[in-house]
Amino acid sequence: MIRVAKVAAGSLGAALGLEPGTELVAVNGRALTDFLDWEFLTADEHFMLYVKQPSGEAIEFDVERPEGWPMGVTLEAPRIRRCANHCDFCFVDGNPQALRAPLFIRDDDYRLSFRYGNFATLTNLKPWDEARIVEYRLSPLYVSVHATDPLVRRFVLRNPEAPEIVPQLAGLAAQGIRFHTQVVLVPGVNDGPVLVRTLRDLYGLDDAVLSVSVVPVALTEFSKRHLVRAPTAAECKAALVAVGECAERALAERGVPWCYGADDLYLLAGEPLPPAAWYGDFEQRENGVGAVRYLETRIAMAGFPDLRGQRIGVVTGTAMGPLLPQVLAGLAQATRAVFELLVVPNPLFGPDVTTAGLLPGAAFREALRGRGDLSLALLPAEATNDDAVFLDDVSVDDLARSVPMEIRLSYDFADALTGEPALARVVEN
Ligand code: SF4
Repeated sequence: MIRVAKVAAGSLGAALGLEPGTELVAVNGRALTDFLDWEFLTADEHFMLYVKQPSGEAIEFDVERPEGWPMGVTLEAPRIRRCANHCDFCFVDGNPQALRAPLFIRDDDYRLSFRYGNFATLTNLKPWDEARIVEYRLSPLYVSVHATDPLVRRFVLRNPEAPEIVPQLAGLAAQGIRFHTQVVLVPGVNDGPVLVRTLRDLYGLDDAVLSVSVVPVALTEFSKRHLVRAPTAAECKAALVAVGECAERALAERGVPWCYGADDLYLLAGEPLPPAAWYGDFEQRENGVGAVRYLETRIAMAGFPDLRGQRIGVVTGTAMGPLLPQVLAGLAQATRAVFELLVVPNPLFGPDVTTAGLLPGAAFREALRGRGDLSLALLPAEATNDDAVFLDDVSVDDLARSVPMEIRLSYDFADALTGEPALARVVEN
């Protein structure tokens, strides 16, 4: 059973009389367990819908759904599938105690992997989950592989029960499911020959694996640093060599690099980023793969207004500090505004957490306080949740009231300065 949270005016749901609190029980006699059942089972033009209204009245609707008429039903938030692993680098262990409760949920949910591109390990899949993935064709899925050597993977995930990933992916692939994959690089554990084997094994799954990214492990002040450490520059360079060799083969045989290093990996290795064309459709940009080149491409293609006379602050984390000047140079040329980069260390998680998306509201307030010379400040949209609240529970509205300039959230500059929507996804694990 799932429950209605909202119904859009003018929708089919409203015409049926569904309302907040209505229990959606079954479609065509099949019990509804989550949003996937709801979306897939109501996609037909004709179906029987069994509901219980908040008044307790049970109704069965014989629904004729004209093409293009949306159901218009927003469901209550799903119960997230919990993670069965205990990775040493888990972001949950790296949280300071003061954060709100939902940030301590270890999610590992294939449904969110399909819907939002969250990376999942698939270690908690039951046979009926796999059957659903195939039945609903939940493809592509975003999968945290980390290592194809079963022992190393179990060690990385701290899960002795983790199934072997290559047969698992191959089984789903045989039924038409495709994957974007990632390896979180843990030095001394899944780098070196283990990484080479992982890339080779994933490549061996042919077109089932659409891409693989190699991302250096990210740690906070609170992570289990006695168990896991950040990679050195030399280790990142070595990983890039493995990535490069694999990409060269893929380019020759498949026409695409297929295997990518995250921007952070290049940054830590002190190596230049590949050109934009390397990343194709930037399929893993929300995972920090080609994110800088994507921004440059967006800026080059967007039609910006003339903003001359404006002084605009761009607030970011220390990871993007060295990379953004080249992006902002293009933005200044396109808009004729003056841009000032404000690089902010993370006061909540510690200086080793460099991503802009984990900056708390207090950090932005501190950076912008007293900056009346700025007419506008652009803040990373990924630092807020759907309710426009930062990690430390400071809301965007509160922040706006406490700083002397207009603030706008932005994923890619074009969204904030031209009004063009940006694509964005939440990526975890
Ligand atoms: S990092 Fe992801 S997979 Fe690992 S324990 Fe945390 S939530 Fe689970």
